[in-house]
Parts: sequence; structure tokens; C-alpha cells
Amino acid sequence: MSHAYQKCINPACQGEFDIGETLPGCPRCGNLLDIQYNWDKLPLPSRARDLGRVTSWPAGGMGQVSGVWRFGDLIPFAPLENRVSIGEGHTQLRPSDRVGSYAGLKPGGLWLQYEGLNPSGSFKDNGMAGAFTHASLVGAKVAACASTGNTSASLAAFAAASGAMRAVIFIGDGKVAYGKLSQALDYGALTLLVKGDFDDAMARVREVCQEENIYLVNSVNPFRLEGQKTIVYRVLEGLSWEVPDWLVCPGGNLGNSSAFGKALYELYDLGLIPRMPRLVVVNSAGAPTLSRLVNKHGLVWNGGTVDDKLIDSYYAGLDARGERAHTLASAIEINRPVNLKKCLRALERTQGLVLEVSDQEILDAKAQVAREGIGCEPASAASLAGTRVLRERGVIAPSDRVVCILTGHQLKDPHATVAYHGKSLAELAEDYGSFGVSTAPFANRPVRVANSLGEIIDAVRRDVRPPVGK
Ligand SMILES: *Cc1c(COP(=O)(O)O)cnc(C)c1O
Ligand SMILES: [Zn+2]
Repeated sequence: MSHAYQKCINPACQGEFDIGETLPGCPRCGNLLDIQYNWDKLPLPSRARDLGRVTSWPAGGMGQVSGVWRFGDLIPFAPLENRVSIGEGHTQLRPSDRVGSYAGLKPGGLWLQYEGLNPSGSFKDNGMAGAFTHASLVGAKVAACASTGNTSASLAAFAAASGAMRAVIFIGDGKVAYGKLSQALDYGALTLLVKGDFDDAMARVREVCQEENIYLVNSVNPFRLEGQKTIVYRVLEGLSWEVPDWLVCPGGNLGNSSAFGKALYELYDLGLIPRMPRLVVVNSAGAPTLSRLVNKHGLVWNGGTVDDKLIDSYYAGLDARGERAHTLASAIEINRPVNLKKCLRALERTQGLVLEVSDQEILDAKAQVAREGIGCEPASAASLAGTRVLRERGVIAPSDRVVCILTGHQLKDPHATVAYHGKSLAELAEDYGSFGVSTAPFANRPVRVANSLGEIIDAVRRDVRPPVGK
């Protein structure tokens, strides 16, 4: 499709490249690449509520059931026959007054966008549909990623489903939740447990892909982010295209926040929405690069002229102090986010904010989400934890409308959930003390009973009987 092309995000470079090229970054200046479209040459409905209809897919194709390709008009970089899907994007936007009141919002003010319903259990499938589509366009046979777990689960699932792509996965040894590792192994990917953490695995996978001519699907891949834009479209569709005040997501490698920003300002620039929500990116305090650089050091997008020296000296400081990312929200345990600059752009265009929350706040928020019947993994709950903190600080008003993105499924990391609910505080401190987690105010404790009818009936009655006097 000639109306789409790749373009360097650096305004001093402006390098443009064909869609058919596979590039890990701008060959001229090394910055990230964007996918750009000549919108005036492309068919688009004039009203947002006409978006997302299944009109442009051959009958019976997987695109009929893809929550990504349903919005193919807004990510038109590949012809229909190349579009790959494993049924991603069937997610739901659920209003929740209970969770809203935990965050300090008035009834009707909070929605949860649950991305755990994707085929591999996280939002990453939206982006992988985009990356795999490009990989198929360029005829790639091997694809690789570094991962804290969910990107690898998604890559492995798409590769297995394609039957034609070999997946190679780089994971920091000991840095992955078992739910995610089990997926990569079960789907048959070559799984390399690299001695080190995510930031190490990311550095190595880039070198290996370069050396071996392997297709890289990490979120430096701009086609990944095109797929992830559709999360925003589904949120807005779920709100009948009424724009909320805030859109809140966790921040790790910053691919999601970057994609959300692009989705929003493209819709706005096309005149399809009248304004944009403010984007909030939530770091764990154990992996706070974005929040430190923005809030403490004043790093800004600045029209694309980003202060590279400031970033370099921040990273040099981390290295000098031997500081590594350390959070139980393993999906965001990343200190060198590859999409940092794109995220800065998204923050500027949407008047966005970034903040840090503690792992204790994350686990407490996760328990609150679950009481709504929605299971998410720790990193996902950072969005609710962050909303609550901004409400407390008076940045978010009680009557504001807030959408929290829940990025991944609870069963990805059952250990964190069982530790919170099932363990004594001493055991919890032993497991998670190094993350600053010491209490579990919303724990739902299991009740140990003897194999005795009397004792079991007593336990049941203690729970279900109305208290005396009612
Ligand atoms: C990948 C991931 C994140 C972080 O998203 P980025 O795009 O890397 O910022 C958050 N939560 C979950 C569950 C993830 O898998
Ligand atoms: Zn460039």
C-alpha cells in the first residue's frame, strides 16, 4: 500500500522509508520510526461512530473476529490478504462504581478496559497482530523478542498458529512469572533464559537480530504500535465515542502509552474526536525511569528535539550506582524503556502525566479490581493505583471520567495473588519484603479446616449467617 510509509520521529532527520523495509530504527540517525499515512488518499468515514464496522474483510477470514483489523481503516499499512489474526481484541470496557469509589471517584466515573481477554492473556496480542502482518508482508521466517513474559507469550502463540514462523525468545533468567514462561514453552518457542534482566535481554536480542537477520517484534517495531492503537479505539467505541477525561495505563517499555498517544492525536487531527483525554502513565517505584526523567529532571518532547545528554547521563548514573529495575510488577520491571521518546511525544500532545506508585499500592489496587470479578496481573493494577494517587492529590477531580487499562490476565502471575491472600504477613514479608510489601488489607484469607463435617459447617455458618442482631 503506497499510502503508508515509515518516518523517523526526529524532526531534524525526517527520514522516510518504504513500508516493505524491515528496520530496527532510523538508518540515518538511529531514532525510532513511526508509521505514517497519506490520509487524504485513504477511505475513512467522516464520523467516529462509523469506525470499527466489519466491512473490509473477505467473508469468513479471521479478520471478521479480530478486534484489531475491525479498525483496519485506521491502520492501513497492509493489504487485506496479508493481515494476520489469532482472534485478538475481543476485550471489554466495564464500568465499575465499586472500584471507582476505591479510587475516590463519583459513581459513573470509572471504567476498566480488560485486555486479559486476549488469546494469550495480555494486550500484547493487539500489537503482535500488527507486527506479524508486517513480518508476513516482508516474508520473514524467524521472529524474536526480549520479554518480561507477555510479549514472548504472544509471539510464541502467533508463531505456533502461523505454522510457518519460528519464534526465538530472550528472557531474563528468573525474571519471568511462571504463567508467561509456561506459554512460551508450551507453544514451542526457542526460549533463551539469559543470565541478566530485561534490559540485558533487550540489548542482546537487538544484536542477534542484526547479526542473524531475524525479524524483531519488540515495541521498537512501529507495526506493533499500530496494532496497539486499537485498544484506544475500542475504549472510545465502548463509550459511544464520548471522550473520557483521563486514560491511564502502566508504563514499562512505553510501547502502549506511545501507541495510545498516536491513536488519540491521529483521531483528533482527522477531526474524528473533538478533544483528547489526558494520558497518564504509571511507573512502579521500582522501575521509575520515565517518572524520574520527566518529573525530576524536566525531560520533555520539545517538538522532537529531546535532550539526549540528559537521558544518557541518567542511564550512566544507574550504571554507576549498579541500580537495576526491581518490582514485583514484572511486566513493567524495565529501566531503559525503548519507546521513551515516543512516550514523551504522547505526553506532550495529550497534556499527559507520569507518576510512580509503590508495589504495595499496586497489590492493594489489584485486590480491588478482582472484587469486581476481573482478574489482572500486578502491573495492570498500576493504572488503578495511579488513578487513586492522582485523585488524592486533587489532580483528578471526583467527577472526572477515567478509563484504566488492565493490561494482562491474573493467571499470568498466580504467585503474587496467592501470596497476598493466602500467606501470613510474615510469609508475605519473606516473599515480597524486598519490594516494600508488608501488609494485605484486602486479603481474602483461605480457611483451614479439619476433614470434619461439624467443623466445616461451623466455618460455613460463621461466614454466611447474618451477624447476630441484624
Ligand atoms: C508489556 C506489559 C506492560 C507494559 O507495557 P509497555 O508497552 O511495555 O509500557 C504492562 N502490563 C502488562 C501486563 C504487560 O504485558
Ligand atoms: Zn532519523
